[in-house]
Amino acid sequence: MQLNQMTIHQLRELLQRGVTTSQEIVASVFSRIEEVEDKVGAYLTLNKDQAMAAAKRADTMLAQGDADDLCGIPIAIKDNISTSGIRTTCASKILENYVPPFDATVVAKLKEAGAVIIGKTNLDEFGLGSSTENSSFQPTRNPWDLSKVPGGSSGGSAAAVIAGEASGALGSDTGGSIRQPAAFCGIVGLKPTYGLVSRYGLVPAAASMDHVGPMTRDVRDAALLLQAIAGWCEKDPTSHGASLPDYEAALTGDISGMIVGLPKDLVATLGDHGTKEALYGVANVLESLGARVEEISLPHGRYAMACFYILASAEISSSLGCFDGVRLGKRDLEARDTVSMFTKTRGQFGSETKRRILVGTAVLQAENYATHYAKAQRVRTLIKVDLDNALSKCHVILLPTTPTPAFPLGHKLGDPMDMYQSDVFTSLANLAGIPALSVPCGYTKGGLPLGAQILGRPFDEATVLKVGHAYEQGASIEPRWPQMEVHTNG
Ligand code: GLN
Repeated sequence: MQLNQMTIHQLRELLQRGVTTSQEIVASVFSRIEEVEDKVGAYLTLNKDQAMAAAKRADTMLAQGDADDLCGIPIAIKDNISTSGIRTTCASKILENYVPPFDATVVAKLKEAGAVIIGKTNLDEFGLGSSTENSSFQPTRNPWDLSKVPGGSSGGSAAAVIAGEASGALGSDTGGSIRQPAAFCGIVGLKPTYGLVSRYGLVPAAASMDHVGPMTRDVRDAALLLQAIAGWCEKDPTSHGASLPDYEAALTGDISGMIVGLPKDLVATLGDHGTKEALYGVANVLESLGARVEEISLPHGRYAMACFYILASAEISSSLGCFDGVRLGKRDLEARDTVSMFTKTRGQFGSETKRRILVGTAVLQAENYATHYAKAQRVRTLIKVDLDNALSKCHVILLPTTPTPAFPLGHKLGDPMDMYQSDVFTSLANLAGIPALSVPCGYTKGGLPLGAQILGRPFDEATVLKVGHAYEQGASIEPRWPQMEVHTNG
């Protein structure tokens, strides 16, 4: 196996034994990028010179024997997470030339651990989308089938990891944007509990639902990356001071006696895309490992997607208000007066972003507030109560990650409601703020990956990761690598 295909923990071992160097690993990643990036389009900005210099520093730390788990490991960063001195565009024309003067806390933590930042990955503009087609610069393609989307909005991060263009990545997840692309690309994605990982330096979409989290090739790697980025941050007012367990130590493989809730009402809505069969396959493996799978009900779960889009749009319309060419954003210099300067500047937003701003503004208007915004807030509470009730009886909840596997590029662009369906199973965890992990759980007949979600109690990432890891070991799905071709059936 080549260095750029290995997991973070495999690389950690080789580095710590002195069998390879960070410079060799980073060089193998960049040569892979040269080979496949024109097909995949995972990156918006590459950071080669700084990455090679960081790898050299990491090798010195490793030689001194005081290296952290991530020391020398190549990591990609979604381009809505601020990186000092590296362009951070949010895949938007309005931030095309923005170079932040500071690092997001998660990036600072990764650098402190000696990780090597490879580049900035593509996304739907400001994280708004489920296919990475809403990027103002380029679409990203799914390495398993280049005619399919990689999911979104963290599609660039997911594609980079499975294509061997990074060993792990950070994504952001407001309604499913880490887990859905992870499922579409056959990798692991974790949305942590709200408040566990700092959002300082993440450009906000819907601040009450935004999260930063790891996207990796296996669950152990997700535990290692989470360990590095989690924890109290004084610059994030929603940061929680919870003490951190050792996430890797939680991966014991022992899940006997654990209760896994399976929401029958939601699972019943699954069509025939191989997703239902794959989900029951996960349930069977967990049972064979000694867990008890029990049917549960989440009565308000089916309103999650509608509730999410009302509340998220309201927050988005407010958080994108500052991109007006005065406070933030690339000003349109042709305009002759203030109003046309505002409108021309804001005209740089893509059509999905404009749609969200309009929907958000509409639901916050006095005449719609009670019937839409306030009602959705109440539904959000009901969904949270459903999940709390279920999680008081079970240790974790099992759900599909997505209703379908990856769909063809262009297929849903003209039908936003259809695109929004991608989030029916993921948005629940954002509304409730609870942790949710997507793990690969097999392939369709056409060879596209599928994912299953494990949701847990707030700040109990250790259990969520433990169950995901036990499943991964128990299922022993044979490892495959994408061949970077276009397939005719899916
Ligand atoms: N797909 C959802 C949206 O378009 C969620 C995006 C996200 O999680 N950032 O809003």
